[in-house]
Amino acid sequence: MEEAEHSRYVAQLKAEFDSCDTTATGFLDRDELTALCGKLQLDAHLPLLLDTLLGERTYSRHVKAAGEPAPQTGHIWAVIEMGGQVSSAEGVHVVVVGGGFGGIAAAQQLKSQRMDFTLIDMRDAFHHNVAALRASVQPGFAQRTFIPYAETFGESFVQGRVERVDTERQLVILQGGREIQYSHLILCTGDGRAVPREVQHGGVVSNSVQMYQDFVSQVQAADSVLVVGGGSTGVEMAAEIKTEYPEKTVVLVHSKIGLADSDLLPSVRQQAKQVLLEKGVQLLLGTWPAEHGHRVCDLSDLQLNVAHKNTQVTTDKGHTLTTDMIVCCTGLKVNATAYASSFNSCLADNGALKVNDYLQVEGFSNVYAVGDCADIKEPKMAYHAGLHAAVAVSNIANSLQGKALKAYCTGNVTMLLAMGRDDGVGQFNGLRLPRYLVTLGKSRDLLLWKSWREMNQQQP
Ligand SMILES: Cc1cc2nc3c(=O)[nH]c(=O)nc-3n(C[C@H](O)[C@H](O)[C@H](O)COP(=O)(O)OP(=O)(O)OC[C@H]3O[C@@H](n4cnc5c(N)ncnc54)[C@H](O)[C@@H]3O)c2cc1C
Repeated sequence: MEEAEHSRYVAQLKAEFDSCDTTATGFLDRDELTALCGKLQLDAHLPLLLDTLLGERTYSRHVKAAGEPAPQTGHIWAVIEMGGQVSSAEGVHVVVVGGGFGGIAAAQQLKSQRMDFTLIDMRDAFHHNVAALRASVQPGFAQRTFIPYAETFGESFVQGRVERVDTERQLVILQGGREIQYSHLILCTGDGRAVPREVQHGGVVSNSVQMYQDFVSQVQAADSVLVVGGGSTGVEMAAEIKTEYPEKTVVLVHSKIGLADSDLLPSVRQQAKQVLLEKGVQLLLGTWPAEHGHRVCDLSDLQLNVAHKNTQVTTDKGHTLTTDMIVCCTGLKVNATAYASSFNSCLADNGALKVNDYLQVEGFSNVYAVGDCADIKEPKMAYHAGLHAAVAVSNIANSLQGKALKAYCTGNVTMLLAMGRDDGVGQFNGLRLPRYLVTLGKSRDLLLWKSWREMNQQQP
């Protein structure tokens, strides 16, 4: 079924359901369910449906799967499945920590399945960090990269920094002491890759937008920029600066021979290098047969992300260069502060959470890890975070209904690199794409439209 047709069908079903739900609780009693079956012309199946869904009970039934946490005393657990949707009652409360790509995908799915949830993020708006680099060079762009949570999720959104999780009492504890109870927890706190990094520290949109604006001013004030790190972020950063400001000298220094993500096809990585050279970016890389490229010495002592005329930089290979601004695009650091103390035994070396095939955190059947903070051997991508979220939400629904859980399988790599707004390289499902297709599909708008649509809001 086409996506639009499917949405229309689901909306119609929901409208029929709501029209029978006289108490507006998301639960139907025997009479209401009978009325609904009549409207859906399911009268012939009514006895079986009543028996299956209600049994001897007054309201739709509770299904408790093996390994599920015990219901809280006094809570009614109830689930009814209708048209692929699952509505949950008191006692089933999913808490999603982190409203990045994984978190908003999970929250949207919980919302459309009418499951009770709370989405928590330290910011007041979703940050489309895929477009962070464009926002770092193009004046006025940053505003479009923040999408307010409250307009989409209403009271299901709580702004706050999660400091720890009490797994015994099933509580998420926020800075300031507020506690939020969960029956199921989805952790998706991501990693801190965006440039400028300060935006990771949370707060309100206007401050974050101002940080980007300040960064743009610093780039504008520099005649030359040194980008440190030639992974995908560094490659895209160098391309963005040179595209927006062709007159500036842009140097990319990298500690390896190959540019961009090592999961990409060699031909795609080679193409990325070619585009940078075509744009006039100077490359300081390793050359075969040497194993290593250049590492900037004493990076932590250098002032990053601010224009500082004629700063001297040396590399471990004795190369010296002079630049007006240093932008560091190295190292991923998983944001583990929300859960590190509580899930100490499930942490991989980088702070990511070890998960099983169903994305449940090792040893916890009601806790899922999604996105960059899940320890899965695949590139850290928004695309994957969305796929993880779908698996986690399905598995929560499946476990409530006693159905088999769904395993997450990593597919062939799909990755697109925006090389400025006018070029791009990448691959789809393991096959290299023509540059114009990547430009059309990603580089021009950086898929911002997709997130605005997912959040059901109008892009400014
Ligand atoms: C420049 C750039 C370009 C990229 N390009 C692509 C691309 O083209 N395609 C692609 O698929 N991927 C791309 N990625 C990767 C992609 O953005 C990440 O993989 C994705 O953001 C991961 O999503 P996530 O939900 O795991 O985490 P994030 O999106 O990082 O979200 C984590 C959220 O958790 C919140 N949070 C963290 N700690 C706490 C706490 N203690 N309490 C409350 N909230 C907290 C943060 O505020 C944040 O909102 C790119 C990344 C960058 C930086």
